[in-house]
Amino acid sequence: MLKIYNTQTRKTEEFKPINNNKVNMYVCGPTVYSDIHIGNARPVIFFDVLKNYLEFINYEVYYVSNITDVDDKIIEEAKKAKLTELELTKKYTKAFIEATNKVNSNLPDLMPKATNYIKEMVKYIKVLIDKGFAYQTESGVYFDSTKLSEYGSISNQNKEELEKSVRIENKGDKRDFKDFSLWKITDDQGIKFESPWGEGRPGWHTECAVMNHEIFNGVLDIHGGGSDLIFPHHENENIQTIAHSGHELSKYWMHVGRLDFGDEKMSKSLGNTVLVKDIDNGLAFRLLILAHHYRRPISFNNELFDEYIQIYDRITKTLKRTNLKLGVNFNQDEVDEEIISKFVDEMNNDLNTSNVITLILQEIKNLNKINDIIDIKKTYNSITKILNVLNIMPEYKLTKEIVNKYEAWEEARQNKDFDLADTLRKELSNEGWI
Ligand SMILES: [Zn+2]
Repeated sequence: MLKIYNTQTRKTEEFKPINNNKVNMYVCGPTVYSDIHIGNARPVIFFDVLKNYLEFINYEVYYVSNITDVDDKIIEEAKKAKLTELELTKKYTKAFIEATNKVNSNLPDLMPKATNYIKEMVKYIKVLIDKGFAYQTESGVYFDSTKLSEYGSISNQNKEELEKSVRIENKGDKRDFKDFSLWKITDDQGIKFESPWGEGRPGWHTECAVMNHEIFNGVLDIHGGGSDLIFPHHENENIQTIAHSGHELSKYWMHVGRLDFGDEKMSKSLGNTVLVKDIDNGLAFRLLILAHHYRRPISFNNELFDEYIQIYDRITKTLKRTNLKLGVNFNQDEVDEEIISKFVDEMNNDLNTSNVITLILQEIKNLNKINDIIDIKKTYNSITKILNVLNIMPEYKLTKEIVNKYEAWEEARQNKDFDLADTLRKELSNEGWI
């Protein structure tokens, strides 16, 4: 039985989707104005693993992650880069997809763009105003955070704590500083949309609430993102759904921990950001991420990364050597049930990929020790099956030619043809097969 930690209840709960074996999952995606850094890649990796694992235990998953393509930062960046907003967001949507590929995550089933839902957003905001949960001012439309007692339930904050959490900035013409913008009226040069309240742009929290309403009727099994989104973003998405539709947005709320550079937050101003496009081993990076429990913070540094590059190399070499031993055609369905059941137990315990990586490394060690060919085959198959669920399976393919070369090497050694043996050994070794 799968158990997951629910941020809202602060408890590890049994996972029971709303509709039998169907799982609707929405993860907040990127605002596309720059290349993503490795901290941004953590949820991209984790929720991909979650989807794969849910499918592995026979759930049917529909995974949506949005693209925020309207935002003040986009307008600013577009101006700086002398591009239109559309050119800029296209460029960085493409870059995001490349980064997703680099860390070996599959793309979500759907990646809706906020700008395709402007009409729906306007309609949604109208309902909130009609129901008395939102009000119009000169600067735009705001959500009235004082109307519903559920406000604070995602981040587990009472009224006083909420007030402290909200950055106290220019209050403008909001009634309460916890109130948040649904529609921002603007006459600046950036992209604007028509609305009954004046030309402007939707608020970020409204974008996600509306896309969820349109795609899932506002009912999710899992809503996820980085832990920095718990407040205010997810709190504000949820309260709008309650106000608009009369129910909570999601049954489970899952949040991925931060990734810092050493002890410092990764940020442009500190000059310590590492971009996904600049790392040279996406799979070793993915291994590093999964070696840490998803809710724990990660303190990243280059030495740590080097360590995982070496570990990944060790895994790859052992698997290739074992594959060569097993040959080209062997039954890949035969597994060691004990290894698979350990894997399932760890994953069912709030997706403990960290213990799964430990299990894999133990079994990799074992592969180098055991002699029984059936044992070797079962262990090999079990490891590769798990690596495939985690999407960290090394890329290699044993071919007839490689097997022939290996046999020729053995023959040359037997015939004491040392020159030939040496050449073949070098070739096989360079390719990582021996
Ligand atoms: Zn969101």
